[in-house]
Amino acid sequence: MTRYAAPGSDGAIVDYQSRYDHFIGGEYVKPARGQYFENPSPVNGQPFTEIARGTAEDVERALDAAHAAAPAWGRTSPTERANLLNQIADRTEEHLEKLAVAESWENGKAVRETLAADIPLAVDHLRYFAGAIRAQEGSLSEIDDNTIAYHFQEPLGVVAQIIPWNFPILMAVWKLAPALAAGNAVVLKPAEQTPASVHYWLSLISDLLPPGVVNIVNGFGAEAGKPLASSPRVAKVAFTGETTTGRLIMQYASENIKPVTLELGGKSPNIFFDDVWSQDDAFRDKALEGFTMFALNQGEVCTCPSRALIQRGHYSEFLEAAVARTERIKTGHPLDTDTMIGAQASNDQLEKILSYLDIGQREGAKVLAGGQRIEYDGDMAGGYYVQPTIFEGDNRMRIFQEEIFGPVVSVTSFNDYDDAIKIANDTLYGLGAGVWTRDINTAYRAGRAIQAGRVWVNNFHAYPAHAAFGGYKQSGIGRENHKMMLDHYQQTKNLLVSY
Ligand code: NAD
Repeated sequence: MTRYAAPGSDGAIVDYQSRYDHFIGGEYVKPARGQYFENPSPVNGQPFTEIARGTAEDVERALDAAHAAAPAWGRTSPTERANLLNQIADRTEEHLEKLAVAESWENGKAVRETLAADIPLAVDHLRYFAGAIRAQEGSLSEIDDNTIAYHFQEPLGVVAQIIPWNFPILMAVWKLAPALAAGNAVVLKPAEQTPASVHYWLSLISDLLPPGVVNIVNGFGAEAGKPLASSPRVAKVAFTGETTTGRLIMQYASENIKPVTLELGGKSPNIFFDDVWSQDDAFRDKALEGFTMFALNQGEVCTCPSRALIQRGHYSEFLEAAVARTERIKTGHPLDTDTMIGAQASNDQLEKILSYLDIGQREGAKVLAGGQRIEYDGDMAGGYYVQPTIFEGDNRMRIFQEEIFGPVVSVTSFNDYDDAIKIANDTLYGLGAGVWTRDINTAYRAGRAIQAGRVWVNNFHAYPAHAAFGGYKQSGIGRENHKMMLDHYQQTKNLLVSY
């Protein structure tokens, strides 16, 4: 095990700036009202940088810059845009370790995850959309013997993007890569909890960006996010965050008849059929590993498998093994390379999780593992840590129905296939789901019957760039990843030509 030095301390590979302004028109710009807010690290609760507090005036300046840049950027060739994305990918990969440490420090997540997943996935995503835009083709139809219809994809123009704090750099890339590939200029607002990671990444790539094509306005949802999402000057709003905020975003955008894509919350079921169980084999082990995925990224994942459904035949044996495995998850300092669960991203998030630990017990759910806040001493004192927690209860309880967004799983049993599907679909969300079985027929049927945009069969939490990702029901509108994402950032032009 090694521990990376905290940013700014002796031996650190990352130096955060003491202050981050907005990034507008290719330059750092001070906030119009001159206000900043403090940004603490979840590792110890101590502020480490200040962030410009954006308002409607800053959003307008960013929109001016984006509108100035959009026409020329929209006329660049797919090859030029692909080249830019590939250059950003190369630069990101070159600085992978620094970015991993920077994000871990600001978000609290374990550095082994940022090294192995967050940043490599961002690199892959950029390269995928570089390839996808070059491979995109229009179409031609012959209408009659002297008329031809051509279909072209054109950029939307200037788009607004608003992202959450759980994967600060990856969420920025998920938004920026397809939008830029499609030829749009962007105004992006990072989450107020994790803007510095996005700016740290930006500082490594900003010299590559044509001025005004990417603009970053920091700040809070009501002060900077709302004017951005409500603006008649944006052609589209792309949002990732809570379902309740998603409703507001739709309302704002509807005023100007703007399209929205929404990536919202989830309460993903993870279903373990009886045939998973055996005394001991690699498949059973993989399934138990799949169970513990509820704690990955401190449970702060929209697809967190926060409801485990275990079939009655081997319920007790499976659950006992799952509890034992959960108790072996190593919690600790986010910058230790062997830590599996670090800190929750903010004090508000910590308080929310603790309130659900209380709600679960008051509802009569049984705590099988964890259930407490972890309070460390020394350089982690004051940080936001929680034990991975397993509740056993009933699917109608609030801990089964509401998004906790922490390392908490609620377990229940089911009788047969129909029962499993009924419980799995008994939620207002429909983002992700897991199915574990050795039987291909059960796997396929369940995969089709579950109302979710992504069903992992015999795996969980893989996010390849070329697999479409998004929500059914109240988990969202539209998809991310996959080349179909380009459609969300383009409009179809038809030329009907007679000759
Ligand atoms: P949030 O909705 O509180 O905030 C998300 C973003 O919206 C932030 O940038 C915030 O400042 C902004 N915002 C808040 N209120 C706003 C308003 N009135 N107008 C405009 N912008 C506003 O969500 P969060 O707590 O940052 O993120 C966690 C949520 O994100 C969870 O529900 C999680 O499931 C979801 N999420 C979904 C996906 C997905 O792909 N479906 C991915 C990651 C996170």
